[in-house]
Amino acid sequence: ASQQMSKSDTINLRKKHIGQACQLFYRSDPLKIVRGQGQYMFDEEGTRFLDCINNVAHVGHCHPEVVRAGAMQMATISTNNRFLHDELVQCAKNLTDKMPAELSVCFFVNSGSEANDLALRLARNYTRRQDVITLDHAYHGHLQSVMEISPYKFNQPGGEPKPEYVHVAPCPDIYGGQFTDKLYPNANLAALYAKPIEDICARQLANGQGVAAFIAESLQSCGGQILPPAGYFQAVYDAVHSAGGLCIADEVQVGFGRVGSHYWAFETQGVVPDIVSVAKPMGNGHPVGAVVTTPEIAQAFHATGVAYFNTYGGNPVSCAIANAVMRVIEQEQLQQNAQRLGEYLLRECNQLKQEFDCIGDVRGMGLFVGIELVSDRETRTPDTKTAHWVVDRMKQVHKVLVSSDGPNDNVIKLKPPMCFSLENADEFLLAFRECLTLHMQQLHAAHPDVAADNTNSVITTAADTLANKTKRFDREDRFIKSV
Ligand code: PMP
Repeated sequence: ASQQMSKSDTINLRKKHIGQACQLFYRSDPLKIVRGQGQYMFDEEGTRFLDCINNVAHVGHCHPEVVRAGAMQMATISTNNRFLHDELVQCAKNLTDKMPAELSVCFFVNSGSEANDLALRLARNYTRRQDVITLDHAYHGHLQSVMEISPYKFNQPGGEPKPEYVHVAPCPDIYGGQFTDKLYPNANLAALYAKPIEDICARQLANGQGVAAFIAESLQSCGGQILPPAGYFQAVYDAVHSAGGLCIADEVQVGFGRVGSHYWAFETQGVVPDIVSVAKPMGNGHPVGAVVTTPEIAQAFHATGVAYFNTYGGNPVSCAIANAVMRVIEQEQLQQNAQRLGEYLLRECNQLKQEFDCIGDVRGMGLFVGIELVSDRETRTPDTKTAHWVVDRMKQVHKVLVSSDGPNDNVIKLKPPMCFSLENADEFLLAFRECLTLHMQQLHAAHPDVAADNTNSVITTAADTLANKTKRFDREDRFIKSV
């Protein structure tokens, strides 16, 4: 019934009953999404949006096999996890089969925040220490415990102060961070970024507190799609281990094949974490997550004598869904697709960088891409205003959903469902090109003739593409027919 409400009624009811602090995309003109299919979302008027931001709908919105698995299990039994169930143990097997051999024990939870909260508990219990090292701009969840290790939140005006036991190291951003390839062209940037962590570890050893854990996303998303320099995690893990700490890889955004070359993003750095947290893509929109660790760490948790119980974590429905997601990734070769499409997107975005000065940097792996917009390439001055304008125009004019992020909110982020196609990539690229062209035209308003000619032809092509979208959608209506 709620979908029959007018959009303004939905907004009004939301204003009345939903906390104003709850975040919305496109705050000034929010989207009312009433259904999703594959890499597309549809608003109340039936307008189709190309979803380039939804890393939750990993194998595609409402994938028929995932929907079927969830619905079947829900119609069979859905109960808490204190009973034996095949979906639970199979899910643990499927997950750990994809991990390095040491990581063979799972705890199931309901979200990324819960996964990181439990990861911290496991580390603190195992090490009998308290202190945590986290990266600047990191986000690890909304629970009290993980907000405390999320500079993304506590560094905001109004954020709660950083607790004493949290140590913030620089984000290993070699384009816009503390140590850049421009400032230190011949340096070992991995070593430069590892050094502050080595220093923290040395200090913690000297003061007798040691370190409980180092936690980081394997590729930092909230930091602005950051790829740490090769060798960074190895150096950091070595330092943390020698201070007695454990290393936690937060794969909540970047896991399950998104980076293309590997199933887990930590593998791209050749390291083996002690604890891995996973969530978002695992349930394709259904809340499920997990913490994967070693038998030793799990045993130490058991040895406390305090049993772990999580009502919904690992319930049969969640596990049936997660199993279906992992099956679909294999069956549809989505990891390979991510690799192929990622290479294409990076190549084409680098081509745009050649043409448009406002692109400072293009980076990414697989279907995890960041395009950093700058007002001055030389000084790498972030152009937040243009990034916001692009995000808005992509939605309003082109019906393509992208987001911006990073400490200066000037990085256009792409992390689409993994069924993203070559055609989708072209659709994004064409729309993005139109925005950049118009932006340059506005910048060079003193020479309207040249820029306008160029812009008009791009806009016409973009409009043609828009018209074609509707036709394509008719052919792609497989979910409606198959469920
Ligand atoms: N870790 C990372 C890297 C995340 O991006 C998020 C969510 N954006 C979380 C943890 C928290 O996950 P959830 O919202 O499922 O609690």
